[in-house]
Amino acid sequence: MNEESKDLQSIQNLKGVGPKGASSLNNLGIFTIPDAAFHLPFRYEDRSFITPITEANYQTPVLIEGEIMKSTVVFRGRRMLFSEIYDGTGKLTMRMFNFAMAQHKALEEGKMIRCFGTITPGPNGKQMIHPQYQVFTKQDTIEVEKNLTPIYPTTSGLQQNKLKKIIESALSYCDKNNLLKEESKNKKYSEYGNLLETLQFLHKPPVETNLNELIEGKHPAQQALIKEELVAHMLCAGILKNELEGRTGPSMKDISMHESVFLDSLPFELTNAQNVVWGEIKNDLLANIPMRRLLQGDVGSGKTLVGALSALHASSNGYQTALLCPTEILAEQHFTSFSDWFKKLGIKVMLLTGSTKAKERKIIIEDLAAGKIDILIGTHAIFQSGIEFNSLGLTVIDEQHRFGVHQRFSMLEKGGKTNQSPHQLIMTATPIPRTLAMTVYGSLETSIIDELPPGRNPVQTSSRPDSFREKVIKRVEEVCLTGKRAYWVCTLIEDSDELEAQSAEELYKEISNSLPKLKVGLVHGRLKKEQKDSVIEQFRKGDIQLLVCTTVIEVGVDVPEATLMIIENPERLGLSQLHQLRGRVGRKANTDSHCLLLYKEPLSGLAEERIKTMEATNDGFQIAEKDLELRGAGDIYGLRQSGLMDLKIANPIRDSSLLLDAQNEAIELGKNETGFAKTLVERWIGNRVDYSDS
Ligand code: ADP
Ligand code: MG
Repeated sequence: MNEESKDLQSIQNLKGVGPKGASSLNNLGIFTIPDAAFHLPFRYEDRSFITPITEANYQTPVLIEGEIMKSTVVFRGRRMLFSEIYDGTGKLTMRMFNFAMAQHKALEEGKMIRCFGTITPGPNGKQMIHPQYQVFTKQDTIEVEKNLTPIYPTTSGLQQNKLKKIIESALSYCDKNNLLKEESKNKKYSEYGNLLETLQFLHKPPVETNLNELIEGKHPAQQALIKEELVAHMLCAGILKNELEGRTGPSMKDISMHESVFLDSLPFELTNAQNVVWGEIKNDLLANIPMRRLLQGDVGSGKTLVGALSALHASSNGYQTALLCPTEILAEQHFTSFSDWFKKLGIKVMLLTGSTKAKERKIIIEDLAAGKIDILIGTHAIFQSGIEFNSLGLTVIDEQHRFGVHQRFSMLEKGGKTNQSPHQLIMTATPIPRTLAMTVYGSLETSIIDELPPGRNPVQTSSRPDSFREKVIKRVEEVCLTGKRAYWVCTLIEDSDELEAQSAEELYKEISNSLPKLKVGLVHGRLKKEQKDSVIEQFRKGDIQLLVCTTVIEVGVDVPEATLMIIENPERLGLSQLHQLRGRVGRKANTDSHCLLLYKEPLSGLAEERIKTMEATNDGFQIAEKDLELRGAGDIYGLRQSGLMDLKIANPIRDSSLLLDAQNEAIELGKNETGFAKTLVERWIGNRVDYSDS
């Protein structure tokens, strides 16, 4: 695909999608028109037949149809609208709390109504609360749906019906423009036809389709897509590997005194595990093959230091290092540590983020190109065009789970004048299960830090419903008055900085009003860099004892004196994220730390299981496995959002039986059908290389 046709395929160019709609769609990971075709339903409803009211049961949503006998608005504490419906077999009451008067008027006696919803027992027999409905006259005939009705994961500001229309028109756009139709010459992937036809099937399966299979992700059409996606990811890893084989990496042979000087200056010794992995990395750096190494280590295991040793080694050999962080807070924190560590060694460390002032940015860019900067720490601002390294020898990517595949690609190209491919160290606290690693990385080497620095006590985790709030606030006060420090984390479902900032501010008001004896601080993503810095610094020093915050502190923030964390609405977060957050406490040797999950009732079964897991274990590997296991077919979007992997439909745990087959397929295609192999990669992964980098 050339640049121009990619532009045309931007979702904004689809009829009926405005800038606001586009931004909601972007939140769902939909950037291009074909992306919308890949946005599959997470469940289906059967609206293909009308159920007589007497036969309708209380569990499954049903479609009923009858005559409106009476519609009244009553006031019982609040305004309610009742409509009585009779279908010849029985009576049903439709009840609504939110309605416009126009709605009341339209629900006229003698008109017909069709409702879809779940029936519950009410004061006057069967009732439906706020069903979806349609009013018509006795003369009208309205067809029932011929297909299962798709229900899509969506986001605030984007209604189900609107999203459904957008997806429908995206599908016909693809059809008209012959997108997603290429097929392998040698093999049929799906019995439903080409990729587009298979997608179309899943957006609108005929009513007789096995719903259970669909829900479990076991339907042949889904299996075909899953396999194709796995093949694409494996090919992508393979293509990456082939590309690398042709390149050389900077050989960093000099072992300088800096290393021992640095290590001697630390107030502690490296752990055994840190020593081992540093040995593995150093070995890679000595060779002239570009390193691709994943460094896994639980939260607090000391990965930063290993990254620092690697950067030090590169600079001793005359190469620059880029250290990439997912958030500004983390970048700033690393900048402080690195500057502190390397000051005496004459190594120049700089920070480049979205908040860097234009003037300073200009100087950094110049110095970087002139080779005057040894280590550049930053956020994705480092990727922006116009930034050229003089001799980039190493990229360290911290907390990799926040970066997508596409960013790893673009970093490969930034070798600077050396014309070599820089070594790459990817550090993550989200352990990647083997099955997943095989899919995503193909040939990536792995190092594991499997021990925490000495004296770390596991964080003790417990949970309470929100009714304990008053007690919890009191308890936090007691604890903080003894000189300890605490985080109070406010969470939000929507991925919106603004809303999150708002609710954090409200929480801040509440807490600081009820705890006048404590110094309370606030950080959220909307604050200016200086404000954030200053609050975190005060918290570090103890001038602030209680820090109300959003999940912006999730990665990297390192204040060992903080030993208590309250997480509000933990039911909204995935397991890995909860674990990552909890990792902010338990960082002080020989000191007990506590984490309290303050949840809203009622908990869903899934949320309850996540909370139980958090209480039961501190082991990041166990938590990651459990996380993947709990994310069923219904949570494909969640898996994507977690950033664990940019998968659209496959779930490497659930679909592990397909992995081997997919691998063989990938090898076969890579050998014999490179054209189609490229198409697959572009289809499933390639788009995002260009689009989500904004
Ligand atoms: P993570 O692996 O989560 O990135 P960090 O690198 O932030 O962990 O390290 C957590 C804390 O442990 C930091 O305060 C760091 O200085 C400290 N630390 C790192 N290595 C050791 C060690 N060998 N002994 C004691 N403390 C250490
Ligand atoms: Mg870290």
